[in-house]
Amino acid sequence: MAPAPRPAVPALLDRFGRLHSYIRVSVTDRCNYRCTYCLPEAGLTWLPRQDVLTYEEIARLVRVFAAMGVRRVRLTGGEPTVRRDLLELVAAISAVPGIEDLSMTTNAHLLAPLARQLRDAGLRRVNISLDSLDPERFARITRGGRLGPVIEAITEARAVGLCPIKINMVVMKGQNDDEILAMARYFLPYAETTVLRFIEYMPFDGRWHENVSAAQQREVLASELPLSPMLDPDGPGDGPARYWRAGPLKVGFIAPLTEHFCASCNRLRLLADGNLRTCLAHEPHPNLRDVIRAGASDEELSALIRQIVRAKPAGHEVQVEGGRFFEGVMTGIGG
Ligand code: SAM
Repeated sequence: MAPAPRPAVPALLDRFGRLHSYIRVSVTDRCNYRCTYCLPEAGLTWLPRQDVLTYEEIARLVRVFAAMGVRRVRLTGGEPTVRRDLLELVAAISAVPGIEDLSMTTNAHLLAPLARQLRDAGLRRVNISLDSLDPERFARITRGGRLGPVIEAITEARAVGLCPIKINMVVMKGQNDDEILAMARYFLPYAETTVLRFIEYMPFDGRWHENVSAAQQREVLASELPLSPMLDPDGPGDGPARYWRAGPLKVGFIAPLTEHFCASCNRLRLLADGNLRTCLAHEPHPNLRDVIRAGASDEELSALIRQIVRAKPAGHEVQVEGGRFFEGVMTGIGG
């Protein structure tokens, strides 16, 4: 990847002194799965194609963000592998001066045949959603997904060096919380290349679910594996997960409900339609796609982005019970 340019402008700080060096880019709102925790049962109306940022627009925005100090980019969706020009997009982003880490979050259904080309185009790592190791349960949670291609993709991602592979499991009471130990046992032999992460279920659009807290998840793991906390495992840029060692395996817990990480949130989310979300809780501001298509210069774009980031809220107030729900659906926001 290209070396970091000299910082031309001040760093991307908000009112609370949080430095933004990480952006998640949702490259499409479309998905080939219909996970129960992510999409409403009735499905969604996808964005018209012309409303989705083109790869040139995404690459330009990443250049503008990189000039303001963003160093890490994660592609997400919807499902990024359903986007036809994904390889071109990966190549364009990895060539942006200053971008040091390019990763992707995927359900991995289509990943196996793409993994090597993605790595060659400049992708470094993948996060793979895997909520069950039981094929029938997997199909139920994903509403029709198949476990086989996902396991195959994990093997292929490891073979081509898209590592570390982070496996994301959304833990849901009564649906898959009995598989916490099974997941850990399954990935123990791959501890060198794999990190296992457990995510608290976030309530979207009124779809309530009884939460299994990160503390409860740790209790289950500790019944079989020696657990010890890792302090700042990969430096402050390691995102919202808190990491522990479970025997040789690195295990992360993402606990947006019971262990808020808003105070250290360094993330920005660029949505497929060009909206920039500074927080999961929605804050309205001008759409970057519209601003680009109206002819804005890079300077105008960076001034607007700086203004949006300055106004980032202190945090969200979504709680286990009685709190607000997040607005929108996760597939539109990108996780
Ligand atoms: N399609 C890709 C995938 O399946 O990984 C990327 C998009 S998906 C929206 C990104 C992440 O959001 C996944 O790791 C998923 O587990 C997480 N996610 C979606 N809905 C969630 C919810 N209600 N609570 C917690 N995590 C959620």
